[in-house]
Amino acid sequence: MEFPLSRAEASVLEILPEAGSTNDELVRRATGADSDGWPDFSVVATANQTRGRGRLGRSWVSPAGKSLAISVLLRPRTPDGDALPMDSLGWFPLLAGLAMTRSVRSVVPAGADLKWPNDVLVNDRKVCGILSELLPDVSGIVIGAGLNLTLEADELPVQTATSLMLAGANDTDADNLLSSYLRELDALYRPFLAARGDAAASGLQQAVSDACGTIGRSVQVELPSGDRLTGTATGIDTDGRLLVDANARISAVAAGDVTHLRY
Ligand code: ATP
Repeated sequence: MEFPLSRAEASVLEILPEAGSTNDELVRRATGADSDGWPDFSVVATANQTRGRGRLGRSWVSPAGKSLAISVLLRPRTPDGDALPMDSLGWFPLLAGLAMTRSVRSVVPAGADLKWPNDVLVNDRKVCGILSELLPDVSGIVIGAGLNLTLEADELPVQTATSLMLAGANDTDADNLLSSYLRELDALYRPFLAARGDAAASGLQQAVSDACGTIGRSVQVELPSGDRLTGTATGIDTDGRLLVDANARISAVAAGDVTHLRY
């Protein structure tokens, strides 16, 4: 697999014939003896990921050759070379989710929405999941995305999944989609760095809010404490947290599992 379009967008692109987890592969490269060879916007991808990970120890399941696992290394720096404020880092999963939402929208006539914080849904079904991980030395972030390309209905790992093909996409080519995602990611990442991680100033907060299908919906949030919050999602705050109105009391949710409730 040559991936000429994607190669033009990445600083380094390695396509693996198979990988356990592309996030693990890229973390290893980004922190190993040869880490200088893995600059900002380095990418590892495979169409055959065998042990994909989700959040909270969950697994991401994809039949060989029918989906794409993409990991992008970001080493965010302001134009002056400074590190970004720690509290801006929470925006990266959202930034990646928005980039992927835009790529999916470009090929799926039915459109796509971002489910806070970072799944991409078509008609309420998950076509892409994203998992961001901070490097152990905090020198960068690896953003993994699993994109379902051509799975058939009987190959979907869970009822709530879909693939680009099943969603009626007019293009399911891996290089086209990867290059589109990298372009969208770059177009959001540069202004965010220029604004020193200020999501309001860079327009990221507004853009994510506009694409986020969670806003306006009834949601149930399972908090890390185990408590549950049921209410209406009303917005996203300047730190990327989901605002939930539960009985006229607004809570800002930073990490939690959000279920879209259907009535
Ligand atoms: P949820 O979809 O339950 O909100 P999440 O956003 O936390 O989960 P992750 O934990 O990142 O998602 O992803 C793992 C979950 O995604 C699994 O528990 C499973 O329900 C679902 N899943 C696994 N593989 C796929 C796939 N190929 N396509 C869509 N969904 C998948």
